[in-house]
Amino acid sequence: MSTTEKNHASFTSTFIFSHHTHLSLLLPKHFHKMDQLHFFFFPMMSQGHMIPALDMAKLIASRGVKATIITTPLNEFVFSKAIQRNKHLGIEIDIRLIKFPALENDLPEDCERLDRLPSDDKLANFFKAAAMMKEPLEQLIEECRPNCLVTDMFLPWTTDSAARFNIPRIVFHGTSYFAQCVGASIKRNKPFNNVSSDSETFLVADLPHEIKLTRTQLSPFEQSDEESIMSQMIKAVRESDSKSYGAVFNSFDELEPDYVEHYTKVFGIKSWAIGPLSLCNRDIEDKAERGNKSSIDKHECLKWLDSKKPRSIVYVCFGSVAKFTTSQMQELAMGLEASGQDFIWVFRRDNEDWLPEGFEERTKGKGLIIRGWAPQVLILDHESVGAFVTHCGWNSTLEGVSAGVPMVTWPVFAEQFFNEKLVTEVMRTGAGVGSMQWKRSASEGVKREEIAKTIKRVMVSEEAEGFRSSAKAYKEMARQAIERGGSSYTGLTALLQDISSYSSTAH
Ligand code: UDP
Repeated sequence: MSTTEKNHASFTSTFIFSHHTHLSLLLPKHFHKMDQLHFFFFPMMSQGHMIPALDMAKLIASRGVKATIITTPLNEFVFSKAIQRNKHLGIEIDIRLIKFPALENDLPEDCERLDRLPSDDKLANFFKAAAMMKEPLEQLIEECRPNCLVTDMFLPWTTDSAARFNIPRIVFHGTSYFAQCVGASIKRNKPFNNVSSDSETFLVADLPHEIKLTRTQLSPFEQSDEESIMSQMIKAVRESDSKSYGAVFNSFDELEPDYVEHYTKVFGIKSWAIGPLSLCNRDIEDKAERGNKSSIDKHECLKWLDSKKPRSIVYVCFGSVAKFTTSQMQELAMGLEASGQDFIWVFRRDNEDWLPEGFEERTKGKGLIIRGWAPQVLILDHESVGAFVTHCGWNSTLEGVSAGVPMVTWPVFAEQFFNEKLVTEVMRTGAGVGSMQWKRSASEGVKREEIAKTIKRVMVSEEAEGFRSSAKAYKEMARQAIERGGSSYTGLTALLQDISSYSSTAH
């Protein structure tokens, strides 16, 4: 029996059965109101960080723990509807707002959230303003006395706030164990110095698999000693990680077992895998309304999907931040059309002029374009979806895994090139379009032939069945992980028990 299982077994439990959600919720008995644990969740203000934080708060609240989300007024809407819905199910999540500090020379209103990657100056201001939330955060801690702070990697200063009140700070990176291990190896070994050109591959040393990358797939700040906004931030993140009580992951043991182990060895801090978090959303509303308001009526979307054959459409969406040049978008349109597959394509440009002439007429009935925000989890979970063209943001990747959908990978920036390797070379549930250039500004350079070829390869080639059966196996493992007794379920139990015993010895 593993330590986690033992911890779990030592819990006396009570079942609560909710007929609304068909969710069986396990509430350890000793978390009765008197000594109820209280967790603060403070995510970075961007969709890819707030969405999993909300799921995490829901999950933890469903175990009888008090959950409070900290955010700014402009971002309250991301949480408020879900909080209402959960209230009706008897799951209480609180929200507390901290005014986003205004800086001089700044900032249009939308700078309270990173929907697009801003210029370096703006990013610096954003981080600076975020750090000014320290004092109001500490006032809230003083007032509420939570037992644990689960805060975002991009809020490294929260380690000090936690220390001031002798509360454990748990860091949430919102990425895979795999990506963390790849990043650490590159930082340690600097393998990019051993190649003579940007396109020559180098081996990422000391990993359980043979992973190769090129310089072009790394961010500039990973390769240079020059000080920049991001390099300073990453340094602060690393320092605060090592001072944190532990790390929580939106992942599950069976997805990347070698890397869970490797991470523990290399980083030497506790960690708990409690995902896939998106699987806590079981009804249509919860799956359809995540982050921004959906730009398409969910019933209309489902009707369109219902009209298609199983596994016959490709879903194309690149998350909330990644950008593409106009010519790259046109190339993508041509590639999609040339693949001959039916599709749903999500993009955030409202100006229609850039689409190739006649594209929409030619693909009428075959393609559904969503301008704005899609109900992604609802779509991915539909049986008509046969492949997901993704930028490999970690939430999207894991949502694809949870739905058992093979992936066509098209990384753009952040740690997306690492996640691509996990999908294509470790899990083998998809293939890449050949995106080679890490670009914070806008992706370009991927040709329509390659796009069409890779979509066909993943959807209809001889290899497709192999991708599908691996994807299906991971889907099963993901679902089992979150069920009672599954690895993520016991991971969460272990986390709650750890914080519970920390709190009882600290006071
Ligand atoms: N998302 C969505 N609809 C969209 C685009 C994105 O619901 O049209 C959600 C997606 O399901 C995921 C999150 O936004 O939960 C994006 O996170 P990810 O880590 O994939 O990428 P990021 O946006 O951080 O690059």
